[in-house]
Amino acid sequence: MSLDPERRMQFLFQLRSRGVTDARVLDAMERIDRGAFVRGIFADRAYEDMPLPIPCGQTISQPSVVGLMTQALDVSPRDKVLEVGAGSGYQAAILSLLARRVYSVDRHRRLAQSAQETMESLGISNVTVLASDGSRGLPDQAPFDRILVTAAAEDPPGPLLAQLRIGGIMVLPVGQSDHVQRLIKVTRGEDGVDYEELRAVRFVPLIEGMGQE
Ligand code: SAH
Repeated sequence: MSLDPERRMQFLFQLRSRGVTDARVLDAMERIDRGAFVRGIFADRAYEDMPLPIPCGQTISQPSVVGLMTQALDVSPRDKVLEVGAGSGYQAAILSLLARRVYSVDRHRRLAQSAQETMESLGISNVTVLASDGSRGLPDQAPFDRILVTAAAEDPPGPLLAQLRIGGIMVLPVGQSDHVQRLIKVTRGEDGVDYEELRAVRFVPLIEGMGQE
């Protein structure tokens, strides 16, 4: 991280004080420079624990929420992970250090392309960012060991549940976009699905179909 030691300590302290305690997640978040994913006038706020605007009217999530979601996903080094909602690519870059392979999709071509370029500039080679409607999952690469959704749906989308391996975990915000949403952890078992409610969150909505740009 291209940060002075004091800001780096503060960044990690904020994460810990908001419940991010998993050592592997904290290590990954220390190694991935959030500043590389935020452009323009907000760049110098990259190390504050707040969501920030990115192009196409979207947002890069708050670091502590990224940490809590990553922690809840319980990724292991052999996992193939799908992220729905690539946005800036920040979350996918963190997953790249914890998983074997990461596919991340965004309905905005412009965001998908720029996130892929950022991966390349950082030398991250196990992430593929694609422009695609993630509400349908990514059937070509399914099944997935883990699925992370970073935009809010009213209910867990059926195609995503279907593309989750038995024993797999999906973490996603659910609820209407203009209300407080709940972050939930879905575990797919042999004969059914188990839901655990984690906390209240606020995400941009999961929208079906491709975006304009
Ligand atoms: N994870 C991102 C932040 C995501 S913001 C980061 O680390 O920066 C949510 C993203 O979900 C937006 O970029 C939005 O375009 C995308 N999105 C919304 N609906 C989608 C859909 N159906 N398929 C794919 N992406 C979607």
